[in-house]
Amino acid sequence: MKIICIGRNYVEHARELNNPLPEAPVFFMKPDTSLVIRNRPFFYPEFSKDIHYETELVIKISKNGKHIQEKFAHTYYDEIGLGIDFTARDIQSKCKEKGLPWEVAKAFDHSAPISKFIKLDELQHKDDIRFYLELNGVKVQDGSSTLMIFSVDHIISYLSQFVTLKMGDLIFTGTPAGVGPVKINDHLVGYIEDKKMLDFRVK
Ligand code: ZN
Repeated sequence: MKIICIGRNYVEHARELNNPLPEAPVFFMKPDTSLVIRNRPFFYPEFSKDIHYETELVIKISKNGKHIQEKFAHTYYDEIGLGIDFTARDIQSKCKEKGLPWEVAKAFDHSAPISKFIKLDELQHKDDIRFYLELNGVKVQDGSSTLMIFSVDHIISYLSQFVTLKMGDLIFTGTPAGVGPVKINDHLVGYIEDKKMLDFRVK
């Protein structure tokens, strides 16, 4: 399986990092070794001094496909979860300055904690999926799928022109505004609608 992440998919987040709005989805990948499951702790890596959380809706691909038309994209997923795209912002900033790829800042071990997955049918509002993150009990990110620049269906159609999507692949769909640093002992709790999806600590 592979993990594809979309960057700059929310207007307010692109602005907070002074990034231009994209004309097409920006994507990068994380390896399977980035995953952290079952709310295990995230261990702060020694190579960065500025690890940021980015809370994202995560789509799980349910069947293989390439060159998927947008109107059929919804038949390629039926489960959703919540994930954190941990980013070494200090390293990423250097990559951006030099025009280099971001993987060193994004794809490191344990950089992608994910929740369990739930059926989209379990959600109250499939077309307006609200999600948020609490850091030490304070709500720091609050998003909705309606605020995405590129919809999930568009993302799937676009990605599948370049990369065959396979059953079990995960797509991180971008983060809303409010990203920020974590430190050791922080407590992160994430929700989709009123369902607690993530609950873990930084160690
Ligand atoms: Zn992200």
